[in-house]
Amino acid sequence: MKSEVLLFVGEALGSYGFPEGHPFSVDRQGAFWAEACRQGLDRRATVASPRHASREELLRFHEARHIDWVETRSRIGTGYLDYGDTPAFPGVLEAAAAVAGSALEGLHRVMSGAARRTFQPIGGMHHARRGRAAGFCVFNDLGGVIETLRAQYGVRRIAYVDIDVHHGDGIFYSYEADPDLVFADVHEDGRFLYPGTGSAEETGRGEAEGTKLNIPMAPGDGDREFFAAWERVVEHLRSYRPEFFILQAGADSLAGDPLAHLALSPAAHAHATRTLVDLAEETAQGRLMVFGGGGYKLANLASAWTGVLAELVRA
Ligand SMILES: [Zn+2]
Repeated sequence: MKSEVLLFVGEALGSYGFPEGHPFSVDRQGAFWAEACRQGLDRRATVASPRHASREELLRFHEARHIDWVETRSRIGTGYLDYGDTPAFPGVLEAAAAVAGSALEGLHRVMSGAARRTFQPIGGMHHARRGRAAGFCVFNDLGGVIETLRAQYGVRRIAYVDIDVHHGDGIFYSYEADPDLVFADVHEDGRFLYPGTGSAEETGRGEAEGTKLNIPMAPGDGDREFFAAWERVVEHLRSYRPEFFILQAGADSLAGDPLAHLALSPAAHAHATRTLVDLAEETAQGRLMVFGGGGYKLANLASAWTGVLAELVRA
């Protein structure tokens, strides 16, 4: 039986990946999809086709000069989009626009009532800033969803939750002074890992003081530490009664990721998803969008993300 869950997979999203042995490779979506099909999860969600974001849609979060820059580098097809983490390749504009556009398509379907929850494995580009690419992230699809929720749907109070091993700095600093963006991020301590931010003292600025929760974890921490942190996340989120939930479920926080040093199991991602499904039902009419984020060991992302999807289709 189909559930009310939309799953965004397809060639346009699969093409978001960097060449020549880069950890963010083009085979990540395929690894997830093969495992999802093996478990029969593909039959329990509605598969939706990716679409490209228009320039107008990208401008909701990004500065025009950033879009122009990506367009130029995409045509040239070489060099870097940032300081050296995020290579350009021919067609990177289209690939990044597919990530952002699919997120907006998912949002519209949720807001119209056609779907209750979405999962987009290739998505959750939480390092991209309004004016620049960073950390494998070209366009910030999450920021696009937040801006569109406000501009088009009048939804103010949005919960952004991030369990990727890296701090979600692109979202955190874009909304640091925004009291209606309720933020919770569990990540490896920035003293040991890119991007170096997200200390527990960073709780929001001005009016937004207290609306942001950063929980850095020590290298080597596993499920026990995560589950304890997660209780604080749930308490934080519940106190603000958000109208909409977004989860960035990066699988690079699992044990054995080649870029990071936490030791979670897929049970952490399943547990986080399950509780957010429930919280969304309590205060947000069930509205929850989940994005795959990072994860650079294929077996890890396949097990973490199928665990996420299994929770999304369970309800
Ligand atoms: Zn990451």
